[in-house]
Amino acid sequence: MNSDELKQRDLKVLWHPCTQMKDHETLPMIPIRRGEGVWLEDFEGNRYIDAISSWWVNLFGHANPKINAAVKAQLDELEHVLLAGFSHEPIIQLSEQLVAITPPGLTRAFYADNGSSAVEVALKMSYHYWLNSGQPEKKQFVCLSNSYHGETLGTLAVGDVALYKETYEPLLMKSIVVPGPDCYQREDDETCREVAIRQFEHMEKILAEQGDQIAAVIVEPLVQCAGNMRMYDPVYLELLRAACDRYNVHLIADEIAVGFGRTGTMFACEQADISPDFMCLSKGLTGGYLPLSVVMTHEHIYDAFYDDYENLTAFLHSHSYTGNPLACSAALATLQIFTNENVIKSNQKLIEKMADSTRHLEAHPHVSEVRQTGMILAIEMVKDKATKTAFDWRERRGIRVYQHALSQGALLRPLGNVIYFMPPYIITEAQIETLASIATEGIEIATKT
Ligand SMILES: *Cc1c(COP(=O)(O)O)cnc(C)c1O
Repeated sequence: MNSDELKQRDLKVLWHPCTQMKDHETLPMIPIRRGEGVWLEDFEGNRYIDAISSWWVNLFGHANPKINAAVKAQLDELEHVLLAGFSHEPIIQLSEQLVAITPPGLTRAFYADNGSSAVEVALKMSYHYWLNSGQPEKKQFVCLSNSYHGETLGTLAVGDVALYKETYEPLLMKSIVVPGPDCYQREDDETCREVAIRQFEHMEKILAEQGDQIAAVIVEPLVQCAGNMRMYDPVYLELLRAACDRYNVHLIADEIAVGFGRTGTMFACEQADISPDFMCLSKGLTGGYLPLSVVMTHEHIYDAFYDDYENLTAFLHSHSYTGNPLACSAALATLQIFTNENVIKSNQKLIEKMADSTRHLEAHPHVSEVRQTGMILAIEMVKDKATKTAFDWRERRGIRVYQHALSQGALLRPLGNVIYFMPPYIITEAQIETLASIATEGIEIATKT
């Protein structure tokens, strides 16, 4: 099959996500023939380092032999069964293991099949908990400025990235958006910790004033990924946990992007030593193989729904593919790799390499910041370094880096003017060096005039 023919056939029948389709009149769309490790290979034999883990899902490479074997074995046993009234071994095992590795107290696993759906579940569960507990007035949700929790209507309502939200605003439920702890906004002499503490006052005030009506606060712990990889200090999570307890409000940790080692620890919440009331996981959960998501929660939340049928307190939510066994088998194989290969510890070398190989960019006249939290490293391109004035978004400078990177064998899909690395953990130090030099050239080209 040849690439041009595939592109033509694609453009006749497909409508791609997060894409102005007209862009494909000039920007390449790339049919991929196969994947192996960090590499994606197209129909012309070109290979690309998947530096963004295919939208942050892939952890241990494409066509990973261990995950492949696990999925193949499961395929011959049971491909799928409904999860209401039925169960299966992979999902029981997976739930036991998730209970064991997530922060203390998270003892119940409720499944869905993508990240947005998990967030919807957490929102509904929080509201419904208060309803079952005789506090139906607690139905507001609080989120942070620049937050992203998915693109279904409920999750957009608790997000704050204009690109995704603005158009659909008239359709959305109202939520309370509180100015967040993003450290990019620091004053010259401020630390990230100081920014987080200062910004927490906004949250404290809202919770103090409206806590009675608030069901939950939802946050992306440590890194607001879709919001241009903005990062903040763990102290914010500590303060938030304490305040949520004080004002009797749930804390939902959306670790869909940051879970499974991305921030350097297995879960980002560990860095603040907190346990949320709900933890949403997806993306890396199956190693990037199959759609699956889960909401982990506490026994006392579960208990608030446990009653005689006639009392109608049961949680009402289901998706057809909830807890799919093939996806669970990929997740189990993924967790096995974490244990067998001591991944969190061995990633430390890669984390240092990412820092070392991009440090020189801090001096670049059009780079305002090189920031990093664990295995996520972001480089923000700006028009004016001193004032952090952004390039006009219409200039689409990030796309220029993207195109240069493709020509050099790397997939570096940017977020606006932010270039980032969020690679699979099987990447080598040499491949990180390569990515850094491709990004450096790309930024040079993209910021010229
Ligand atoms: C990707 C993402 C989601 C949505 O997950 P989907 O599977 O794309 O619906 C939600 N929250 C965060 C933090 C994410 O990064």
